[in-house]
Amino acid sequence: MPILIDGTLGEGGGQILRTSLSLSLVTGKPFRIENVRAGRARPGLLRQHLTAVLAAAEVSGAEVEGATLSSSCLTFTPGPVRPGDYRFAVGTAGSGILVFQTVLPALMLANGSSRVAIEGGTHNTAAPPYEFLSRTFLPLVERLGPKIRLHFERYGFYPAGGGRFSAEIEPAAALSPLHLGARGEITSRRVVAIVANLPRHIAQREAETAASMLNWGAELHAVEATRESSGPGNVTMIEIGTDETTAIFTAFGQLGISAEKVAGNAAREAREYLVSKAVACEHLTDQLLLPMALAGAGSFTAVKVNLHARTNMEVIAKFLPVHFETVVLDGFTRIQVTR
Ligand code: ATP
Repeated sequence: MPILIDGTLGEGGGQILRTSLSLSLVTGKPFRIENVRAGRARPGLLRQHLTAVLAAAEVSGAEVEGATLSSSCLTFTPGPVRPGDYRFAVGTAGSGILVFQTVLPALMLANGSSRVAIEGGTHNTAAPPYEFLSRTFLPLVERLGPKIRLHFERYGFYPAGGGRFSAEIEPAAALSPLHLGARGEITSRRVVAIVANLPRHIAQREAETAASMLNWGAELHAVEATRESSGPGNVTMIEIGTDETTAIFTAFGQLGISAEKVAGNAAREAREYLVSKAVACEHLTDQLLLPMALAGAGSFTAVKVNLHARTNMEVIAKFLPVHFETVVLDGFTRIQVTR
């Protein structure tokens, strides 16, 4: 019998589906999800979610029912995971990072190495930007055992998409538990504002505004103007390195929203992190749960545990015999994963 997943659970977003796909591949357990993304304005499978389904199906020769655009029900019966050379194209500006994160857990535990090429969005709102994958998420995943080398080729911003990156994955036979200790000292700080096919002064204003809101000197901000992108795009990223991790706070430029406002959005998130004593920012928190659960044990401190993270805990516990404990302390929440 497949595991039944209700897509209205908690936040009712796309991560319920992606976590189910990842864990179905790793455990070999089939699942059926109903009411896919019921909590979203445009429910059902969008292109990014459908690409994740088809990618998961391809790496395991899965049988799938309901894998069509807008579908709200899906049954997924995985076969054995096959390491190899894969190329997954979202076909729109939908996040390629989220597609990659869907198949990564299975490939990092497979019985051989893989190369995965991704085409789609690399810098999307409501998804990890490429730098978050390369500098925040993967270094922590590597501490569990696997080795992952990333190669960035081209930016993919909404609405043009067309971004490209690839990864080489050397799996680990088993994952080691990861216990992240105290946050420790701030070891690096940086604001990077990027414009693709847009005037450089936009990024300049963003970088200056973000740095000044954080009381950081001019030497801590950088501007990049690129043409390696199919369309226009703009993102401001604030990086804060600590002993355990690099936190990245992101805001995207939008028509009608001033560069100063964009920078302010990222700076406010960064300030919240600096005030807290936690290792993991809000977004890293929901993303770390799955790899830690696969290792069977782990712990870390989080700025906050939002509905997204709580929903992910519920979905993970449907596939794996793990238990999540959260304890709110002064200035952070401690999260522990145990079997
Ligand atoms: P939808 O909710 O429309 O279905 P979705 O498929 O993109 O959208 P979500 O369930 O919202 O899925 O999951 C988005 C993922 O992207 C989460 O893991 C979240 O932590 C991550 N994320 C969102 N914004 C950022 C950000 N600024 N930095 C890093 N990660 C982010």
